[in-house]
Amino acid sequence: MSAKTQAARAKSEDVDLFQKCYQFTRAAQARAVGLYPYFIPISGSEGTEVRIDGKRLIMIGSNNYMGLTHDPRVLEAAERAARRYGTGCTGSRFLNGTLDLHEKLEAALARFVKREAALVFSTGYQANLGTISCLVGKEEHVLLDKLDHASIVDGARMSGGKVVRYRHNDMDDLTAQLLKIGADHPVLIAVDGMFSMEGDMCRLPELVKAAKPFRARIMVDEAHSLGVCGLTGAGVVEHFERIGQVDLVMGTFSKSFASIGGFIAGEAPVIDFIKHHARSMMFSASMPPYAVATVGKCLEIIQNEPERRERLWAIARRMKRELAALGFNTGHSETPVIPIIIGDSHLTFRVWRELFDAGVFTNPVIAPAVPERGALLRTSYMATHTDDQLDEVLSIFEVVGKRMGLIG
Ligand code: PMP
Repeated sequence: MSAKTQAARAKSEDVDLFQKCYQFTRAAQARAVGLYPYFIPISGSEGTEVRIDGKRLIMIGSNNYMGLTHDPRVLEAAERAARRYGTGCTGSRFLNGTLDLHEKLEAALARFVKREAALVFSTGYQANLGTISCLVGKEEHVLLDKLDHASIVDGARMSGGKVVRYRHNDMDDLTAQLLKIGADHPVLIAVDGMFSMEGDMCRLPELVKAAKPFRARIMVDEAHSLGVCGLTGAGVVEHFERIGQVDLVMGTFSKSFASIGGFIAGEAPVIDFIKHHARSMMFSASMPPYAVATVGKCLEIIQNEPERRERLWAIARRMKRELAALGFNTGHSETPVIPIIIGDSHLTFRVWRELFDAGVFTNPVIAPAVPERGALLRTSYMATHTDDQLDEVLSIFEVVGKRMGLIG
């Protein structure tokens, strides 16, 4: 093809890289009819309540399970760290970005989840991405629950290994996939401890049993379960008393730890290997000092104030019971994440909007984050929600649910 013809083709629309952007109108259409629920700017927050456009809303769409984002002790720790170390580390952990604070936090986290060592990343997403992609080699297998978080899926894809998925929490399917792979291949099973949209837990005792004959290594993502599940808040692995049978525990700080960041914990040599191979940590700047100090203080509070966890579970039981009694479909939730399953995505957006206008902040979730025709409103609770706030939420749900034909 001559240079002239090539130039003419490049001018035609179908070879423009940005064409897909110009043709992407779905979000604009939703905005035009007032049904766009994403990227809503919050202008003020007190944790359980937020302000948007000057209006007060009760927040039941956050992962702030322990309600620690505004705790005066946490705020003070964050401020003190910023004054002592500055606002950022301006470099990778590898080079100039490791503080004594990072190492202290790693030691405390390792003790908390009862592991030899822990390694902190700048986000939970990066912890999953870096860990899985560096541990699983080309001829090795990584086995995932169909509803695992995107960061696990992306880490598995990036690993270059063979990615196999089993039906959600279906241990027969997990065993069938392990049999297909065979006992002579290294396998990592990576699974969410608590599923973030559905609010159910992984079937860990059965999973451990199924994995054993194949000597598959097990990694549990405790993003939503740390602080929330287990006798001391150490997660689903502690809840099921399977600490010795799980090889790696991953956690995030963007939920109960009221900040941002993540970590992986396990045997010391494995963590040391990850430390020297996880690209998402090596080639990214480290967690800022105020975030590390926030997480350290939250960890202390989570360990010393079990009454927060008890309160959260009392709220979760009440909301599940009362939402179900009103007639809402709350699926298989067994945690403080309670979905309202609606099915149709357009109807889900309309219900979201009605709740929003009435003063309740929820999160509409549609495919691919949930299965096709499985659209839902994700609700989640904090230890700091008051009974009055929850009463108000329930009465708004009743009015809106009836108006929208979700309940009788
Ligand atoms: N794993 C799970 C199960 C999650 O839900 C999330 C975030 N929602 C992550 C990992 C990523 O964590 P982060 O937000 O800290 O990047």
